Amino acid sequence: MIFKDITDLNFNGVNISAHHEFSHEKVYYYEDSKAGLKSLIAIHSSIKGPAIGGCRFKQYDTFDAGLSDVLRLSRGMTDKNNIAQIPFGGGKAVIFKDGIKSDALLTAFADFLNLLEGSYISAEDIGITLEDIQFIKKHSNFVFDNVDPGPYTAKGLFYSIEQAINTHLSENIQGTKIAIQGAGSVGKKLAEYLAGAGANVFISDIDKLKLETINEKNITCIDDAFTFDCDLLAPCAVGGIFTQSSIRNLNCKIIAGGANNQLLKTSIADDLHERGILFIPDTLINSGGVIGLTKDFLNRDEAKTEEALREIAYRVREAIIFSKEKSISINETLKRKDL
Ligand code: NAD
Repeated sequence: MIFKDITDLNFNGVNISAHHEFSHEKVYYYEDSKAGLKSLIAIHSSIKGPAIGGCRFKQYDTFDAGLSDVLRLSRGMTDKNNIAQIPFGGGKAVIFKDGIKSDALLTAFADFLNLLEGSYISAEDIGITLEDIQFIKKHSNFVFDNVDPGPYTAKGLFYSIEQAINTHLSENIQGTKIAIQGAGSVGKKLAEYLAGAGANVFISDIDKLKLETINEKNITCIDDAFTFDCDLLAPCAVGGIFTQSSIRNLNCKIIAGGANNQLLKTSIADDLHERGILFIPDTLINSGGVIGLTKDFLNRDEAKTEEALREIAYRVREAIIFSKEKSISINETLKRKDL
């Protein structure tokens, strides 16, 4: 077993604190070769409280690819938790996928969490399910195991999309065309909320099995949401989808979705602004999940949680009004204005 604080080390050929994504308090590495676990946990900030964020089980081509992911995502969690006004810092974990996800691997991950003594508390993310987290809970207290965050994320997105359509397009959600990329935990639930409010929803997924179970009025399954001609595109699949070349294929007026780190580079926010597309950053809009996850910890009942989800949308409205007044992107607004 190897457990190392690698923050100030040259590790696996990478000088961690000199990494271009680094602005962190701590980065830890844990390896349990018997269990097949190689994992990184990055704590970006613990100023507001223990660092929280999901754990990703994903295949990375190189150590540096996994490190970049955990550094970028944990920084995003600090921003998200700050904007959501919850007393937690930002952290994230990645497990390098190199085979199957076994009980032994999850138990070893629990051991890793225990070594950090609660300075990082984990939830699920890509490749890790709520069931996995509930299994880990048998061996570690440092997980959020009682809430599926997906529906809360979707609810926060739904309220925000309503506000964005009202404020930016001066329209009612009824009859607007909304395309969703990804019919997973967040995308599918979002589609249901939007369709229930009378929007015309179009949804795509690379996994066609995910679309087979969708059979609702106002929801149409399509091949590709990204290029679809619509009022609003909601990316709810993967990050890094907006690049200088890919944004030329967009046919929407607003982008507002749950996927983390949608912009390959932050400068793409200005490119979208120049193209007249309103981009609402994920850190502003997808905090419903952390609000749901932490509701018991913060003693929030359903009514208080609902109010916190609606507050995401009020912030979206304020940000849109400010960005219109100043003719700047919402990314720029987040730098200039406290919401
Ligand atoms: P999920 O794994 O349940 O669903 C993602 C879906 O996207 C899958 O069905 C997958 O097949 C599909 N997909 C992948 N690539 C695609 C592509 N190119 N085009 C169309 N579909 C594609 O994940 P989720 O929990 O729904 O989360 C979606 C995104 O939102 C992720 O980026 C996640 O990090 C982010 N996010 C999730 C939450 C949450 O509460 N679950 C909170 C914040 C952010």
